[in-house]
Amino acid sequence: MLLGELTVSVARLKGAGPAAVRDLAKLGISTVAQLLEHLPRDYVNRRDEVTFHQGLAAGKAVNTVAQVVLHSHFGPTHRPTLKLHVVDREGTAAELPCFNRPFLEKTWPVNAWVWVYGVPETKFGSLQIPAFELDLPPPGYEPGAPLGDAGTLVALYPLAGTLNHAVVARLVAQAWHDYVPEPFEDELPPDYTARHRLLALDPALRTLHRPPALAALADARRTWIHRELFHLQTAVLRRPNALRTAGRPATKLPPTLRLHFLERLPFALTPDQSTVVAEIDADLASERPMARLLQGDVGSGKTLVAFLSALPLIEAGHQCALMAPTELLALQHAENAAKLLDPLGVKIAFLSGNLKAAGRGLLLAELAAGRIDFVVGTHALFSEGVEFKSLRYVVIDEQHRFGVIQRQALTKKGEDPDLLLMSATPIPRTLALTAFGDLRTSTIRTMPLGRKPIVTHTNKMSNQTRVYDFVARELAAGRQAYFVYPLIEASEALDLKDAASMAEHLADVFTGYRVGLIHSRLDDEARRSVMEDFSGGKVAVLVATSVVEVGVDVANATCMVIEHAERFGLSALHQLRGRVGRSDLQSYCFLVYGETLTDDGKTRIRVMMETTDGFKIAEEDLKLRGPGDIAGMKQSGFLKLKAADLGRDLGILVGCREYLSELLIRDPGFLEPAQAGLRKLWARCPPFSDELVAL
Ligand code: ADP
Ligand code: MG
Repeated sequence: MLLGELTVSVARLKGAGPAAVRDLAKLGISTVAQLLEHLPRDYVNRRDEVTFHQGLAAGKAVNTVAQVVLHSHFGPTHRPTLKLHVVDREGTAAELPCFNRPFLEKTWPVNAWVWVYGVPETKFGSLQIPAFELDLPPPGYEPGAPLGDAGTLVALYPLAGTLNHAVVARLVAQAWHDYVPEPFEDELPPDYTARHRLLALDPALRTLHRPPALAALADARRTWIHRELFHLQTAVLRRPNALRTAGRPATKLPPTLRLHFLERLPFALTPDQSTVVAEIDADLASERPMARLLQGDVGSGKTLVAFLSALPLIEAGHQCALMAPTELLALQHAENAAKLLDPLGVKIAFLSGNLKAAGRGLLLAELAAGRIDFVVGTHALFSEGVEFKSLRYVVIDEQHRFGVIQRQALTKKGEDPDLLLMSATPIPRTLALTAFGDLRTSTIRTMPLGRKPIVTHTNKMSNQTRVYDFVARELAAGRQAYFVYPLIEASEALDLKDAASMAEHLADVFTGYRVGLIHSRLDDEARRSVMEDFSGGKVAVLVATSVVEVGVDVANATCMVIEHAERFGLSALHQLRGRVGRSDLQSYCFLVYGETLTDDGKTRIRVMMETTDGFKIAEEDLKLRGPGDIAGMKQSGFLKLKAADLGRDLGILVGCREYLSELLIRDPGFLEPAQAGLRKLWARCPPFSDELVAL
């Protein structure tokens, strides 16, 4: 039997009352397997008896048996706090204040003997133990006798509600006894286990719950970390396309089209752009289809890299597709492509869900016949009826906006096409390795030359007229500005400024200039026309919600005013600020905040003032929100990791990945006899679901 097959409910365990079952559910535990996988967070040594008197004298935790002599209460009468008065076997009295634990009155009635653990102090002339653990005395304990050898290493579990460590330990013991008649089967391949000198899973797990000695823990823990990371990497690497193998002849990349392109380009590539193009070239030419993540801050010039890398393939007669998450962005890319690629004779098309039937039919026919070289579009690109003659290269912009399935749907339109994922949301290396399987990464760190760093200011909302005056001067100099708000329309519930009302207000403030309004409730046509007017300079002030967050590129806009900046997350603020500073003009970002700032809000604004480095901002974001909230990472499996820590255990992760990339190519179905454990595991109780990761 495998551990994961113990799907019987914890409610079936003897001693698991409704309250315990409810509290276990809060910890995500409903099956016996989940209970056994609920690992202690720490252990305390309770072998050596320390009486109240000895503990106080030595300044260390007491560990002894005492009798409850009195219950009393203190604090406000409507919300009194229970205090247990106990006397240990030497006759020393101590008080245990039970903050938020009134139920202890029932658990430990007067006269009961209780095993007490905790650091004592003298307070108001009496001995108190403010943070204590209580348990039943060890089995066979004679009241009043010394604790003796009965003590042991005690596991401290993550707890919820009224659970305590002793209850969890007892349920765990019950589970072993009732449901595990013989040791669990092993899951990992024997040669892997041997190579890393791991324990078998069953004794490792038993040791983690009840270590005979602290020294025994190290190997058990290591075993469990390996198990977790091994399974996580298996899930990641078993996804279609995760492990791409040599499967096509090497491609020669003809250089002519690219040379022409570069000749016409009014600026030089940044060194990082050149490096990244070379990295991509090497992949495109190789026998192994590419899967690469291109990271680069907003405005670092990723789109140009996509165009440049596509050109040799187009020259060689293949087709390329560039997919963007919104109609607005896709259109912008298409216009760029038309400007830069059209003069070279590259046939370009734009495909979105809005294309009318007749035009669409024509376009699809051209695409299927291979008469279109480069198609730009939204998710409409992978809809039914879209066929390519030879789709060789798929570029996905703002990749985290798409789901796994959508990205796969597009690559299925070709025969194992090369895949480039672009992202302005920097992904820390640990996350990238965990979540993206075999994906390689390229990074653009430097901005194009001549860009002046954006000047960021903060302003209280009460004196935002200073901001308006500043913007008025920029408008007078022929520049344009964004104003961003957290709401589309006024809300009863929230006392916040909204884009619709502010668009009217700002039209009065900036008389003589056109003010446009854009948000997600406008239809695509309306949005497009506002954006056109703004990029064409007809609209001077664009009032928006965070829809302008992604990719919008208007070089003449030099002011980004974000009102209620405290309401936006760090990555949104960073993306919004990146809408300006897109030319050699000096640009400004104003973070206007309301009167009440939470600590997190304060931190976010401080981080924005301190740095413009997207990677730093992403790391701060990770600290503030935890990995679960980072774009596209919601379902990532590492949230389920219990023993492993990705920072600390990166080496093990990389080792698993190396081992698995060989194994999965040799024996993807785990059919070799040595892989029986893995075969059964993934057939009967897969530890991670398919949807787990972002690629
Ligand atoms: P990203 O998608 O990475 O946010 P873009 O590809 O939209 O950035 O590029 C931002 C702007 O910078 C575009 O207007 C682009 O033409 C320009 N640009 C790109 N590369 C360079 C370069 N090497 N020198 C100057 N400008 C550049
Ligand atoms: Mg972009």
